[in-house]
Amino acid sequence: MQWFSLIAAAAVAASGTAAVGTGPQMTRPLAPAAAPLDRPFPGRLQLTVDATDTDHKVYRVHEVVTLAAGRPVTLFYPQWETASHAPTGSVAALAGLTVTANGRPVRWRRDPVNVFAFHLDLPPAARRFEVDFQFLAPTRPGALTMTPDIVTVPWQSLVLYPAGWYVRDIPVEARVRLPDGFQAGTSLDVTSTAGGLTAYAPVSLETLVDSPVYAGRWFSRVELAPLDGAPMRLDLVADAPGDLALPPDTRSRLDRLAHQAEHVFGPPHFSRYDALVSLSDALPDDGGTEHLRSAENNFGPQYLTHPEQHLLQHDLLAHELAHSWNGKFRIPARLWTPDFNTPSRDDLLWVYEGQTQYWGIVLAARSGLRTRNETLDLLAAVAARAEARASRRWKPLSDSVNDPIYDAGHGTAWPDWQGREDYYGDGVLLWLDVDTLILERTAGRRSLDDFARRFFAVDGRSEVARTYGLADVCAALNAVTPLDWAAFFRERLDAHDAGRALDGVRRGGYRLAYSAAPTETFRQGELEEGGPDLMTSLGVQMGKMGVVRRLAWEGPAFNAGLGIGARITAVDGTAYSDEALTGALRRDAGGPLRLDFEQDGRARTASVIGAGAPRYPRLEPIPGAVALVDKILDPAP
Ligand SMILES: [Zn+2]
Repeated sequence: MQWFSLIAAAAVAASGTAAVGTGPQMTRPLAPAAAPLDRPFPGRLQLTVDATDTDHKVYRVHEVVTLAAGRPVTLFYPQWETASHAPTGSVAALAGLTVTANGRPVRWRRDPVNVFAFHLDLPPAARRFEVDFQFLAPTRPGALTMTPDIVTVPWQSLVLYPAGWYVRDIPVEARVRLPDGFQAGTSLDVTSTAGGLTAYAPVSLETLVDSPVYAGRWFSRVELAPLDGAPMRLDLVADAPGDLALPPDTRSRLDRLAHQAEHVFGPPHFSRYDALVSLSDALPDDGGTEHLRSAENNFGPQYLTHPEQHLLQHDLLAHELAHSWNGKFRIPARLWTPDFNTPSRDDLLWVYEGQTQYWGIVLAARSGLRTRNETLDLLAAVAARAEARASRRWKPLSDSVNDPIYDAGHGTAWPDWQGREDYYGDGVLLWLDVDTLILERTAGRRSLDDFARRFFAVDGRSEVARTYGLADVCAALNAVTPLDWAAFFRERLDAHDAGRALDGVRRGGYRLAYSAAPTETFRQGELEEGGPDLMTSLGVQMGKMGVVRRLAWEGPAFNAGLGIGARITAVDGTAYSDEALTGALRRDAGGPLRLDFEQDGRARTASVIGAGAPRYPRLEPIPGAVALVDKILDPAP
């Protein structure tokens, strides 16, 4: 507000037109649903899931809830998914809800404020009631949770639970019916498989939701080398049996991965670990979900049979395994929640996700899943993105940790300007900064490995999660090498420029350089996007068929009027092809480039100035510098 409008506002107030007390009054806020308490649950939950309707992608849920009589009951449908750090649960996918007690229907009312809460009008003497509903799973290929050949069991979408208790206090007996002939992997213990129903040993609701099931017609279990006595399993499901073949060298790399992880984090807290793996076009084909005793790892169908075509995915298994320690066993205190409907606060995601992303890349290199050169090429792409990103001008890394919460389900059209979960990529660079700084200050005697040992290897074999705060992280680092770590992080987390973002790369003995040809890693990234990545020249990420997917904020293409979704039809008078575009940029470096394109149903022409030739990031050794990065990527003995 400027001075003249301030004066105007004051004048309006003084003239008596202010409206205090003259309009509607806010109604009393509704009583909140029962807050979770850490107390014994006076009953149990029996949960039966029918997961056989792969035609319609519908799971049918039947629950029997036993509970002390005479208390009001509110049921919650999980809204906050523990691994997404966000309210990504969809109550729109719950349908067909009926509740009965003693064979009679029970009236339920959805809470009008918290629509994930259902209040029940139970008869006063009812000790037991039954709940039925369906989970209408995604039907879009690429997002499915079930197909005729693969069924996953996402418990967080398959349960209504009584509000008022920590979920670790609610005992659950779960059973699932899978399609005939399916085999399944999970970290749950199976107690029986009678009548087509698989029954699991009773666990807490917290453990159940943390223990998904991956089942398939085409299933393979690989027993990897045990880790300190704990069995390590790879449970594979696939669209086709041929995709399950695990090459012997990949197998030995996965054995090494577990060994290298133990070297970093110390002996495992789990007594068994199941890496659940899907190889499918129908399920998500990239990305994972962490759990304490297992992880979901989703790949395309040919990940195992053609690993050379999946360079960008080679740290996923390592990332999710590292999460068992960093994120599940040790979790930021404000991110931990007592149930699935209490909001989490994500301020330390740069530790939870950022350091896990770092360990994923380091462990993939140490185990041989990625070569050193492939790892350097990946780091180059991460560094280039961090250096060029425009969003840092208004939005520091310390704000990016909130992205998953407000971004849940909305998507990000302008990642260069909005930023999008930059604590992953910037987190890698931040922890490389820390790692190289420790190495430098201790003349190579200590590293981030020593922090990890100190921070994660606690409590022996206990699986009980331990929370931490930033002060604990700084104290553990300080014990490795004394420094004002809080100030170190504050400076980097709140920065509005990329000045320090590449400190770790440089201290590690490399500098970010650009060349005229892409690395294979960069090329595979372009393949995933569907077209050339010209963000650091023309300022566009092309999709398929000449469509602009993303724009660099106020970059050359942006300034020439191209919008997201524009379709480029011709480049300097030549019909569009990816090669025509990159070729023209190469020839006319710096000169105006004529683009014909369609946007909003209109044919347009733009003259683009200042694009420059396409340039592709790589890391170049700094002559005479000690290559600390190489030392970090070397396997432990
Ligand atoms: Zn993660």
